[in-house]
Amino acid sequence: MKCSICGKEAVRFIPYANIALCKEHFIQWFERRFFRHLEEYKILEGSRKVAVAVSGGKDSVTLLHLLKKASERYGFELFGITIDLGIDRGTQYSRKSVDIAVYNFRQLNVEYEVVSLKDSYGFTIDESKAKINRPVCSTCGLVKRYVMSEVAEKNGADTLATGHNLDDMAQYVLSAYVHGDLEYVLRNGPVTPPKPGFQVKKVKPLFLTPEEEILHYALLNGFQFIYDPCPYSEEFKRVSKEKLGLIIKRVERDYPGFTVGLVRTFEREIRPRLSAESRSEELGRCKICGRATSPGRDICSFCSIRIKLTGMGTSQSEARNS
Ligand code: SF4
Ligand code: ZN
Ligand code: ZN
Repeated sequence: MKCSICGKEAVRFIPYANIALCKEHFIQWFERRFFRHLEEYKILEGSRKVAVAVSGGKDSVTLLHLLKKASERYGFELFGITIDLGIDRGTQYSRKSVDIAVYNFRQLNVEYEVVSLKDSYGFTIDESKAKINRPVCSTCGLVKRYVMSEVAEKNGADTLATGHNLDDMAQYVLSAYVHGDLEYVLRNGPVTPPKPGFQVKKVKPLFLTPEEEILHYALLNGFQFIYDPCPYSEEFKRVSKEKLGLIIKRVERDYPGFTVGLVRTFEREIRPRLSAESRSEELGRCKICGRATSPGRDICSFCSIRIKLTGMGTSQSEARNS
């Protein structure tokens, strides 16, 4: 297979674009598309300080490297966040993840903060697994969203970027159709503006980039990322939309371009109409931390978890309320 551009040995065939690319032209094509998406969807419009959440996995590590390039092009400040979730179970998963994230921050000379869930909030994800009666990945997801927003705000960022890829987004969209959980996909678009109780804009710059291409790009560039799965990943597969993900992959094989079409059409044609229709709910304020709560709730989900695990409110929040 020869590169469609220069005729050298190709490293990848892109079925939905019907092109084969050598290493150099795949990297160039991948990066051009990244910048095109940033501009087309106004992902970083108005951003002055972008916090990027890095777990150490291929998606977030790749996003960090791409945002470093974007920061040089557009002139915004880049700040790295990684959370030590306290996941061990004999694998040292969190320690390894944090080490890899820090390695990448240092390599790129990006300022960063490592947040220890135990030191800052008094509990770990391993402890929540034993004591909280909900799927551990659901607790973990909620905790990560809360902590990342809080740390981004504390460091003066106006934007928080996460490494969700096309496959993640396609699962959210399809799940909205199959299971009717529209709320979730509406709350998790490529650009979520700030709202009362959450001051940072949340963005997903890789939302139209296929997972397999991210992996290939990361490998070709020699990025350091964690290969080990989280010890709870089997549970993640059970509670997540993993089965829908497999169906999407199968359809993509027979109908190249299906996944991009599914997400792109949703974002261009369906989201704007649904967002215009959906009533803006009056959110409450958490009595402990002051952040947004679901309507009718006095305490947010994060503080409820924290109270169950530590018997207290957050020290930052106590300070805020004193
Ligand atoms: Fe958290 Fe579950 Fe992901 Fe592990 S697999 S990092 S517990 S969401
Ligand atoms: Zn080439
Ligand atoms: Zn709260």
